[in-house]
Amino acid sequence: MLVVSAHAADFVWRSGGTIAKYIKHGAEVHVVVLSFGVRGESNDLWKEENQTVENVKKIRLEESSKAAEILGVKNIEYWDFEDYPMEITRGRLDRLAQKIRETRPDIILTHDKKDGLNPDHDAVRNYVFQSSIMSNSAGVITPGFPVTKQMMLFGFEPHQTEISDFKPGTFIDITETYEQKVEAMKCFKAQGHLIEYYTQRAFMRGNHARRLSGVKEYKYAESFSNFFPRVASEF
Ligand SMILES: [Zn+2]
Repeated sequence: MLVVSAHAADFVWRSGGTIAKYIKHGAEVHVVVLSFGVRGESNDLWKEENQTVENVKKIRLEESSKAAEILGVKNIEYWDFEDYPMEITRGRLDRLAQKIRETRPDIILTHDKKDGLNPDHDAVRNYVFQSSIMSNSAGVITPGFPVTKQMMLFGFEPHQTEISDFKPGTFIDITETYEQKVEAMKCFKAQGHLIEYYTQRAFMRGNHARRLSGVKEYKYAESFSNFFPRVASEF
């Protein structure tokens, strides 16, 4: 699994339970954090006097690394792009395509196609999608890293679901790693107000997961959009 997160905490709020679950069951999970969210997602830190970009970056790195550790993530990279706006250059497309070829994921998790309040997330969705297509294309040459085959892509549920026209395509039960996710979320001091929000969301999605599956043990869940339709030999 490869998880591409626009900012330092996105992967935790939106897929922390799923990441921890996959790791717990033996999957190799790689996380790429594109930016520290210094400009756009560190508002509380900027309320402190004499705050600096370097210091905000340092705090966000510490918080994000600690959260990743709690989730069990061993492979995490911080690419340190500037955020707000997130600019995607040709070089950055090539870099991510190569990363996909290097990690060869069966599953990529990233932002969904529309976030009504966060254009960085939209940019990252397009970035990841384009790089995945490049990675799967034989004519795109990256010496030492052979072409990949089509992998599955899933989109994070955005913060403001309805405003972003998000429709869940897949629910992942995270009951067994829910507590781990809560502990990981607590690492982000500048965004403490989001913890209650995302615990409620996990509870609500757990309800949907139970209702749709009939499995009463599903207590908490995360939802994702499906980039592609499901393919099977039978229903
Ligand atoms: Zn973000």
